[in-house]
Amino acid sequence: MAGDRAYEMLWDCGYCGAQKLLGKSQKFCPQCGAPQDTQARYFPDEPDKVEVLGHRYEGADKICPACQAPNGALAEFCGRCGSPLSEAARAKRLQDQVRADEAKFAASLSLRQQEAERRRHPAAVAPPARTGNQRLYLWVAVALSVLGLVLALLFWTRQETVVVSGHYWRQAIQIERYGPVAESAWCDSMPFAAYGVARHSEIRSYQQIPDGQDCQMRRVDRGDGTFTEHQECRPKYRSEPVYDQRCDYRIDRWSWSREASAEGHDLAPRWPSTGLAGARPCLGCEREGGRESRFEVLLRGQGREYRCGLAQEAWRGMRDGSRWTLKVGAVDKQPRCDSLKPVD
Ligand SMILES: [Zn+2]
Ligand SMILES: [Zn+2]
Repeated sequence: MAGDRAYEMLWDCGYCGAQKLLGKSQKFCPQCGAPQDTQARYFPDEPDKVEVLGHRYEGADKICPACQAPNGALAEFCGRCGSPLSEAARAKRLQDQVRADEAKFAASLSLRQQEAERRRHPAAVAPPARTGNQRLYLWVAVALSVLGLVLALLFWTRQETVVVSGHYWRQAIQIERYGPVAESAWCDSMPFAAYGVARHSEIRSYQQIPDGQDCQMRRVDRGDGTFTEHQECRPKYRSEPVYDQRCDYRIDRWSWSREASAEGHDLAPRWPSTGLAGARPCLGCEREGGRESRFEVLLRGQGREYRCGLAQEAWRGMRDGSRWTLKVGAVDKQPRCDSLKPVD
């Protein structure tokens, strides 16, 4: 980027061990004369930064295919061995180094030191441990057995011949009552009929308030032994609670109060009497809510009783003493009621 200042990348000589050599100005080791390995370039730590003045960027270095020496982007022949550079590969660039804060910078620093250490002593670093695989196999085995058990529970059934030994029915009506109910709402949307109101302050939303900037320094490897540095900033926000008035109140409404039910073992189901206390909306008045019915046949198998809930017509049609086949779960012993079939 224009206006960004440029600095020297650093490299360490792989032959004589000389360190912190300059990526742009020292294409050869000043101690032993070995050509710079462009792959060994790294970003310097803050105190080792050397600014490059009056340097015009022309592109990433060309690597001589014959002697591996780095040459400027405009060179046509290798400055070291004279080979033509028309087929030369370009120096690889490092990934951008981004420094958000001091802690992250220290972390990337120690990573780089570890990397350098490994290059110097390849044997000193232990191979990665291989404990993960066995644990994975164990988990897969456990998961498969659980799956098998669940499938057995669902699908493994035995067929039994059962005899209808009785019937059962239950019918219920839900009863609602008109009276005070406790509710809560934002005070600006409280119903008019509310009474016994208590107000308190509560967080209703959050507001995003501009709060300075988040800045980070980005270093970009230019591939010619230099890098540029520029600051990237984003606006930062902090969220602040917005309080409002919350109202706890009572209001008269219809709400569930009780259930009236009837049950029996005959074939004539009845609805229960509800004994409603008045039907107009007055305090303490009652009205009917939902109705529900349940019809069950009682079945006797080999040493075991089953109950099956059925539609009313099917329920009435199963005569006492008639014989049926029924599938029963081999593991959970539960009847599969939709498998009921008459025996001839
Ligand atoms: Zn050297
Ligand atoms: Zn060369």
